[in-house]
Amino acid sequence: LRVGLMFAFYVAVVAKTARDPAMTIGAMIMVVQAMKLACTALAGVARAAGSFYADSLFFEDLVEFLKLQPTLQATGTPVSAVPLLQQSVEFRSVSFAYPAAESRVLEDVSFRIESGERIAVVGENGAGKTTLVKLLARLYDPCTGSIEVDGIDLRGIPPEEWQQNMAVIFQDFVRYHLSVRENIAFGDLTKPDSDEALLKAARLSGADRTLAALPQGLDAKLGKEFSDGHEISGGEWQKIALARAFLRDARLLILDEPTASLDPKQEFETFQRFGELAQGKTVVFVSHRLSTVRTADRILVMDKGRLVETGTHDELMAADGVYAALFTRQAAGYQDHPAQHDNPSASDPS
Ligand code: ADP
Repeated sequence: LRVGLMFAFYVAVVAKTARDPAMTIGAMIMVVQAMKLACTALAGVARAAGSFYADSLFFEDLVEFLKLQPTLQATGTPVSAVPLLQQSVEFRSVSFAYPAAESRVLEDVSFRIESGERIAVVGENGAGKTTLVKLLARLYDPCTGSIEVDGIDLRGIPPEEWQQNMAVIFQDFVRYHLSVRENIAFGDLTKPDSDEALLKAARLSGADRTLAALPQGLDAKLGKEFSDGHEISGGEWQKIALARAFLRDARLLILDEPTASLDPKQEFETFQRFGELAQGKTVVFVSHRLSTVRTADRILVMDKGRLVETGTHDELMAADGVYAALFTRQAAGYQDHPAQHDNPSASDPS
C-alpha cells in the first residue's frame, strides 16, 4: 500500500511539473525528497511507539514484582545470642501443599534429627524429597503441623535468623555469569573477600582443577554472557556451587543431589571431603547413589509424600521394605558384585 501511494504521489508530482510552467525540475526533486524524508520520520515514530508499548509491558511486571511482599512472616522475635540447632530439629506431623496446588505433596511427616547427625533422604522421583528440604530451609511453612528447632517453632523465628545457620545447594543451583571469585564469594557475603578463603573453598569442592585451567584464575568470567566468558561443563559448575557451600561456616548443610552432574568417583571424593569438613555439623542430603547414601548415620525413605521408613542402611536392607526394593532394583550392579559396595568407581546405579 505504502509503495502504491508513493508511486501515485510521484506520478502526480511529475504530471503537475509537466502542466505547470512555474514548477521547475529542481522543485519537483525537492518535493519528492521531502516526501521521502517525511515517510522515514513517520515510520521511525511508529516503531518507537511500538517498542515503547512492548517495554511498558515488562515495566508493569517489574512494578508488580517490586510490590510483592514476602509470604513468610515471622511472628516472633530474634531468639538469642546462642546459635540455633544446639540440640535438634524436628518435623511434627508436617503436611504441605504448594500454593495454588490442590493435592498435598507431604502428608503427616514426623522425624527428629539430632544436632551433628548425617541424614540421607531417598525415594522415587516426585516422592517429596526436595519439598522436604525446602521446608527444612524454611522456604515454605507447613500447611499443618510444625517444624521445631531446639523446641522452638520455626514460624516464631525470623527466616533469616534460621537461614544464616545453613548452607544449601539445590539441584537447580544458580550459575552466575560473573567471575569465579564472585561465584564463590556469594556463599558468604559477610566474609572479607580473601583469596585464601576462596581458594580453600575451591580446593575442598574440587573446583581448583577448573580454576587451574582458567588463565585469569579467580578473576576469570564464567558463562557465555560476556564475550570473554568461559563456558564450563555442568560438573564444573556444580563444583563451583559446592565451593559456595564450603565457604560458609554453617551448622546445617543441606544438599539436594548436589553432585548429580559428577561421575560416581567424583561424587564419592566430594562427599569424603564434605564429611571431613562437616565434622560436628548437621548434614541433610538427597542422593540417589548407594555409595553416598550408605555413609549416612540415618536414612529417611520417602514414598508418595509420606515418610515410610527410617534407619541405617543395614537396618533398612534387613527390613526388606521400600528402601531395600529401591536399591535392589537400582543397584543391580552392586548386588551382583558385593566387593564393589564401597568402590566409588563402580557404575552409577541410579
Ligand atoms: P522429589 O524431590 O522427591 O523428586 P519433589 O519434592 O521435587 O519430589 O516434588 C514432589 C511433588 O511436588 C511432585 O509431584 C512435584 O510435581 C510437585 N512440585 C514440586 N515443586 C512444585 C511447585 N513449585 N509447585 C507445585 N508443585 C510442585
